[in-house]
Amino acid sequence: MTMPPIDLPGAPFLSQRQGHLWVEEVCLSTLAHQYGTPLFVYSKAAMLGALAPYQKAFAGRDAQVHYAMKANSALGVLQVFAQAGCGFDIVSGGELSRVLAAGGQANKVIFSGVGKTRAEMRQALEAGIACFNVESEAELDVLSAVALSCGKVAPVSIRVNPNVDPQTHPYISTGLKGNKFGIAHEDTLRGYLHAASLPGLKVVGIDCHIGSQITSAGPYLDALDKVLDLVEAIEAAGVPIPHLDFGGGLGINYNGDTPPAADALWAQLLARLDARGFGKRRLMIEPGRSLVGNAGVCLTEVLYLKPGEQKNFCIIDAAMNDLPRPAMYQAFHHIVPLAQRGGEATVYDVVGPVCESGDWIGRDRWLSVQAGDHLAVLSAGAYCMSMASNYNTRGRAAEVLVDGDKVHVIRERETLADQMRGERLI
Ligand SMILES: *Cc1c(COP(=O)(O)O)cnc(C)c1O
Repeated sequence: MTMPPIDLPGAPFLSQRQGHLWVEEVCLSTLAHQYGTPLFVYSKAAMLGALAPYQKAFAGRDAQVHYAMKANSALGVLQVFAQAGCGFDIVSGGELSRVLAAGGQANKVIFSGVGKTRAEMRQALEAGIACFNVESEAELDVLSAVALSCGKVAPVSIRVNPNVDPQTHPYISTGLKGNKFGIAHEDTLRGYLHAASLPGLKVVGIDCHIGSQITSAGPYLDALDKVLDLVEAIEAAGVPIPHLDFGGGLGINYNGDTPPAADALWAQLLARLDARGFGKRRLMIEPGRSLVGNAGVCLTEVLYLKPGEQKNFCIIDAAMNDLPRPAMYQAFHHIVPLAQRGGEATVYDVVGPVCESGDWIGRDRWLSVQAGDHLAVLSAGAYCMSMASNYNTRGRAAEVLVDGDKVHVIRERETLADQMRGERLI
């Protein structure tokens, strides 16, 4: 059996030339030899290419894209989006420090998350961020007190949980009753009246984010209608809502998934906004995965082939600490050889060296490989390196960013000294 052909998610920035896989104008086999593996490789053109349909959809509107940087928080990646005019959606004080280190503007930062600490609130107030997306009534009180204590007024929006099913994996659905995120739809008006009564807060907007890897427009339209109903009710009660933030969540093609294109989705949503008279509001969105997911691949080397009675294993040098999505969400990533070798393909479970049965990267994959060959794990730009750990005392991978025929090392491979820094013997 020969390897079945696959559609390359990430095309046109990923191509096959003379039997080798390339990103933009750079041959991936060359990168694997030069920088070692595991190695994350990102395409700048792919990132900007993913941003373009959002920019097109919002052209002529009062709108701001905030890249949800937890998807990939490498400074070099943030720099690309900052230079393209993006703001950032952050979920920690650490992420705010990264934005500033990458040249991003604090006044284009919005701060989401259910568990902001007082120290993080202070840091964000002092930096002068655009908005805190508040996720509970208790957080309103704490934020107001912290703001007063530093002589500031905190700009706030309330994150609404609209109770909409985004039809995605349960671990990445966030807008359903029973999720920890946001303030329940029916409590939102009370939350706004409370916020408006607090001296340290200024209401600047409303937001919702219903989940991730969403592949149809329906859940967005449902959430949009619910949020607009709320805005009407809140404004009728005397609290103006200057901006509307619809979060992120648009899916990407991992394995034949067919999410709407960002511009097509937003044409639909903006038509609904216009029809309901909200088209001239300040609009914000928080896309993460859809900006970077298919802009990155992870290169890895085949260490051993281990044939077995029930399963053949292809053991690679990347593992669940580098690529946590399969172990966390049973997620699918295409795995392809960097150089096509002819010959028979065999079906393998592709697994890492980590001592966990959950450490698999792909199951039942047809591959024609030998030890020493290099593979690319595709669609690895989002929620891979940013979730990487040191489990099994494995240093985190290096990262390079390709721009045409230029290669920038944006993160060196983590050393053992890096890993043990700060530890002490008793
Ligand atoms: C994670 C997250 C996003 C981005 O989600 P994607 O699925 O990566 O687009 C946006 N907003 C908030 C509040 C998030 O937590």
